[in-house]
Amino acid sequence: MGKKIKAIALYSGGLDSTLAIKLIQQQGIEVLAVHFYTGFCITETKRRRGEKKSDGTHYINPALKYAAKYKIPIEIVDISSDYFHIITNPKYGYGKNINPCIDCRAFMYKKAKEIMIKTKADFIISGEVLNQRPMSQHLKAMKLIEKEAGVEGLVVKPLSAKLLPPTIPEIKGWINREKLEGISGRSRKRQLELAKTLNIDEFEQPAGGCCYLTDENFAKKYQEIISVENTISRDDLYLLTIGRHFRLPSGTKVIVTRNEGEGNFVRGLKDRYWFFEPIGKGAVAIAKTIDANPPSKEDLKQIANLIARYSKTENGKINVKYHSPQGEESIILGEKLEEATLENWRI
Ligand code: SF4
Repeated sequence: MGKKIKAIALYSGGLDSTLAIKLIQQQGIEVLAVHFYTGFCITETKRRRGEKKSDGTHYINPALKYAAKYKIPIEIVDISSDYFHIITNPKYGYGKNINPCIDCRAFMYKKAKEIMIKTKADFIISGEVLNQRPMSQHLKAMKLIEKEAGVEGLVVKPLSAKLLPPTIPEIKGWINREKLEGISGRSRKRQLELAKTLNIDEFEQPAGGCCYLTDENFAKKYQEIISVENTISRDDLYLLTIGRHFRLPSGTKVIVTRNEGEGNFVRGLKDRYWFFEPIGKGAVAIAKTIDANPPSKEDLKQIANLIARYSKTENGKINVKYHSPQGEESIILGEKLEEATLENWRI
């Protein structure tokens, strides 16, 4: 008996990637789904921090949820440690915000190829649809991405296969091209028909809002750091996923948390940043000066005033405890900052 053909699928939990897997499984191919965590996936980042949605429920990783529902074997692969340079130095530039989609896709394909080789799989599946998204899903970009990743001929896109050049699995007869689809563009009509046929009755709504890097405000804060500090650190970048961001007149950067999950997260950074918390109920904050010296007296007072603005106070006043990264503690009085000043400092 010949070797069973295996495929690695890039899986988001969305309808397109679920359908792509089902179309290939139907042809008797064994599929292992992989879900890459870049550090900038909105739902997964919030889930890891233990944040709750506005209705009080917890965030669920859609890839895990739907892989379980549709009986798709899955692995979550954390690629965040290698991902920093993709964002700060993308060979093919950014999309509308700071989304380096071409480099990102190429990086994911490279990682998928590594897994393919390690698991002795034969090819890769992607739920991408031709011309569905502007930056990375037109034919020229698709070819470029595959060339860059060294996976030419190895990536089957079952939803658009009939419109694309035949891949190695099709040429070798491992899969039947005629049973794949020829979808192009943003309409989801054909996908919804297929979902009915394949008994996919529930799925994650079309993404787009799933990656911080496509978010306009995230991009604005990123560019602000580059323009003020001329550089950005790994920590700076990951901290853009939380809190309210302020730049004081001295250049000191302050991040005030918005919820308990963010508060717990920044507490874990106390040995790297100046940390501020109200003695009472309210938001906490971390601060970083521009020259790595301790914050000035003026800075300390202004940060305490910011904390007072986001805390439960009596007459607008609250005591704020602050800690140096070395663990020294002091207390300062915070007096609710005026809205005009707050808005002036907000990034
Ligand atoms: S939207 Fe985000 S995760 Fe998706 S390809 Fe672009 S950078 Fe990568």
